[in-house]
Amino acid sequence: MIRRMAAWPALFLVLLTGLLSGCGSTETESFGTTVSASFESGSIGKVTKLSNTVWELSLADDNDNAELPAAWRSWWYVKMANLVVGVPTQITLKNSGWPYYYLPVYSYDQQHWYRFSEDEVTQNQDDELIVRKNFAAGTVWIARFYPYTFTDLEDYISSIASSSYLDIQIPGYTQQGRPIYLFKITDFSVPVTGKKRIFLHARTHPAETSPSFLIEGMIRYLLSGTDEAAALLAGYEFYIFPMQNVDGVVAGNYRSTPRSENLEVLWTFDSTDPLSLIGDVPPEVAVLQYYAKGLMTDGGPPVAMALNLHASNSEPDIRAFFYPHFGTEEQGYSAIEASLWDQQILFIEKVMTRYGEGMIEPLPLEGGGSFATKTYPESWWWACYQDRVVAMTLEMTYGRAGYSPLWIDPADMREFGAVLVLSIRDYFEGYSVPASSVGRAVEIFGNGKLKYPDRYPPYAPDELKE
Ligand SMILES: [Zn+2]
Repeated sequence: MIRRMAAWPALFLVLLTGLLSGCGSTETESFGTTVSASFESGSIGKVTKLSNTVWELSLADDNDNAELPAAWRSWWYVKMANLVVGVPTQITLKNSGWPYYYLPVYSYDQQHWYRFSEDEVTQNQDDELIVRKNFAAGTVWIARFYPYTFTDLEDYISSIASSSYLDIQIPGYTQQGRPIYLFKITDFSVPVTGKKRIFLHARTHPAETSPSFLIEGMIRYLLSGTDEAAALLAGYEFYIFPMQNVDGVVAGNYRSTPRSENLEVLWTFDSTDPLSLIGDVPPEVAVLQYYAKGLMTDGGPPVAMALNLHASNSEPDIRAFFYPHFGTEEQGYSAIEASLWDQQILFIEKVMTRYGEGMIEPLPLEGGGSFATKTYPESWWWACYQDRVVAMTLEMTYGRAGYSPLWIDPADMREFGAVLVLSIRDYFEGYSVPASSVGRAVEIFGNGKLKYPDRYPPYAPDELKE
């Protein structure tokens, strides 16, 4: 049918416009504004055209699967064409699973992205965002947050591939046959004995793009050629899976694979013999877990820290935060549980010191222990290695994120990557550093503009972790 339509593009456009508007169309409307999401990472549900300049866009379920939870509706990414330049276009975002105010981003070329201003985005009584802007060109891409596609990853890989400190591996493939990349970063001329191994993975949830920018920042720092970077490369092996759920990224999903699997909860193991996963584990999980197991059993130094990188829907001023586990012995936890807690808190404190205390959410009083009975990556690390691996989730956020009144952008997220690398070193080598020495954090922290939230975000339902 589509092939036949393609023979008469004008007719096809008329019919498409009619479909989008949900009513009859005329020839003149074929030259009107159009909305599409038929490109990599694109996503939108029902599109309603009230006029050429007034639109209602409904967020889609992942894979248009209506059985998925409402909270999985967060990501959207569209192209609008044939806009009326000189007249504001109004877009109401409907059907979101999240009530929080945010500023979407837009681009005229899919390369340079800009935040809408707070003046251009309002929220109605149903918590729906309303964007109103006089666009400067007739074609614009608009998204929930800065996109970072699989193509972006491969372009980035091309830009760093020549480094002699970087080994780019493909330990496996996704269900749809795309490569799952692994970056090994170290000074290969230094023997592995005595090095520390750090394991990171990101994009389990496809639309959580923040960690991709953070990883670029980590790598930029490690490959910067400074003496400090050279010492890090000599002392550590970084193993980074930059994009676990590649198929979900390509599909434009928020949280799941094209089969609607939430990979975050599919590290299924038998608690009496947890080293190997059991059951019908998707390759995206099996590849990571098998690689991690290999690092723990190949005779080299064991993984000392495993960070699981995410981003959380939240109120605009929520800053990045971690999910430390368990708590103190005084709170009733065992010595080994309290040991993991103490190490995690110490590491978070190093990040707070390095980034600026106001750039990370305050520490929780207790982390809880139910993760140990679940099937998160951290559940597996705990079941196999207890307090010997500092395994923890980092949640970045999409909003002002500590930079108020500014909204976080990719440069900030890359700076955070450098912070994270240095914090890892501070933690393992017992460095204490002067507060806040990085990027925009310096000028924002301490200027009195930070807004502190009433509650610690892990009590929000996003990751369903304790
Ligand atoms: Zn997530």
